[in-house]
Amino acid sequence: VTQTLVDMMDASVAAFGRRTALEFFGAETSYRELGEQIERAAEGLRRLGVRRGDRVAIVLPNCPQHVVAFYALLRLGAIVVEHNPLYTARELRHQFEDHGARFAIVWDRVHDTVAGFPDDVRVEGIVSVDLTRALPFAMRLGLRLPLPSARAARAKLTHRPSARRVTTWESIVGARRLSRRTPRPALDDIALLQYTSGTTGSPKGAMLTHRNLRANAMQGEAWVPGLRPGAETFYGVLPLFHAYGMTLCLTFAMSIGARLVLFPTFDVDLVTKAARTSPPTFLPAVPPIYDRLARAAAQGAIDLRSIRFAISGAMSLPTATVRRWEEISGGVLVEGYGMTESSPVALGNPMGPTRRPGTVGVPFPSTDIRVVDPDDPTKDLPPGEAGELLLRGPQVFSGYWQRPAETRAALLEGGWLRTGDIATVSPDGFVTIVDRLKELIITGGFNVSPSEVEETLLSHPDVVDAAVVSLPRGQGGESVGASVVLREGAAAEPEALRDFCRTHLAAYKVPRRIDVVDELPRSLVGKVLRREVRERMVGARP
Ligand code: ATP
Ligand code: MG
Repeated sequence: VTQTLVDMMDASVAAFGRRTALEFFGAETSYRELGEQIERAAEGLRRLGVRRGDRVAIVLPNCPQHVVAFYALLRLGAIVVEHNPLYTARELRHQFEDHGARFAIVWDRVHDTVAGFPDDVRVEGIVSVDLTRALPFAMRLGLRLPLPSARAARAKLTHRPSARRVTTWESIVGARRLSRRTPRPALDDIALLQYTSGTTGSPKGAMLTHRNLRANAMQGEAWVPGLRPGAETFYGVLPLFHAYGMTLCLTFAMSIGARLVLFPTFDVDLVTKAARTSPPTFLPAVPPIYDRLARAAAQGAIDLRSIRFAISGAMSLPTATVRRWEEISGGVLVEGYGMTESSPVALGNPMGPTRRPGTVGVPFPSTDIRVVDPDDPTKDLPPGEAGELLLRGPQVFSGYWQRPAETRAALLEGGWLRTGDIATVSPDGFVTIVDRLKELIITGGFNVSPSEVEETLLSHPDVVDAAVVSLPRGQGGESVGASVVLREGAAAEPEALRDFCRTHLAAYKVPRRIDVVDELPRSLVGKVLRREVRERMVGARP
């Protein structure tokens, strides 16, 4: 790794100048224009007071301004802090309290929320980005906007006007270009505070350096043979504020001069419409998105055959999804694995016929793995045994923001990252993720893997979605609980589902309780939130 992300973007602007970098509802921005906008935004942000090492929050959905703001902040040596713009006021405030950013670049719908934060939340200046013209569909798309909380924040604001300086994005990019003499960031400077998804606890800010992120983009390039620099079209349906979308779209796509078509949210109609004029060649997504698109293609609504590369991550990819997708698109759908703390991608399946569905593939170049005893991570397990997966590589982070204890727990001697995931490795090196360590259920002295029970439930013809969790039982004990969603019109009774499990699973794995629910709580990238499933089940019947 020799380039910072700033050097990388400069190189792309020089190499791909006239090609389209960004497309958003039909409006195109070339690499040269993007470079120009980044330079001008950097100057505007410098005048606002942004300095090297400052943390600056971005609270934006996917849009061209998001890309410009990201690289302009990096150019100044600032640390970008990404946020989910659909977070409630309370969630956003917690995150701001945690990172203490000096400035925030926000979607105008979130502006009042941020402006109304109490004074102990640092934020000296707010840049408001008006997306009303660009997002006329926001409501129709069902983007759940944090409106009620914004209103509450405004009410507070009338009592005590905020001393925060407020400006618009237009006035920021209206400035001149940044002077070339402005110091540039170094390779080991922190580029990004990327918060984890908060699946197992409260989200933690992972500190990722330019070296980490540039390394992961380069590893991505090595992963995908036959990439055509300057000629790929990426569909940015994943949120840029999450590690997965950030690396695939903000850095990887930009490093190879791709056309990045941005979507504020995943919507089949929007994707279908865009595909007519800009057929996608590269789609990073998650299993529910592949299922939705395959269904639309089966109905003849969209042609997926232009997609040469389809990559799934963030959660396990069902083999049924792979089969459907590959049948209808004619291309391959491969699974990768990673976590925010590793920038995020660490393992991937070969991008061709040797891919192995059901596994997350092999380590990325320059990435080492070990499988260890979770109770003593210095102890390696014999080949083939299931244990905690450890990772080491140039993409592994340097720690959590202001959480020394958690950092020490996650980063072991020698740079090994504890993933918290249980994995097995086949004799020829393919890794299978079994479960999260924290989500294993220990009942009567036995370990139950929730994903194994979920798979069994899902193999029942009436079940379309399932989450298996640990429920409290007796004195500090645990029992297996499940929430399932049934196929429309199906009426399987919980008792019948338990009988079904009994014929497939050892008795101790059979859920003692099964609730039928309308839907499972999922994160914004579509992960089932088992923690919330558990809370709901415990709350529903103590
Ligand atoms: P938190 O760390 O805050 O609890 P999180 O771990 O869900 O949340 P992320 O960093 O977004 O936050 O997700 C990384 C995790 O996602 C991995 O540790 C793993 O459990 C899961 N994961 C990623 N890819 C896969 C995959 N292909 N198959 C199964 N699980 C995956
Ligand atoms: Mg995690």
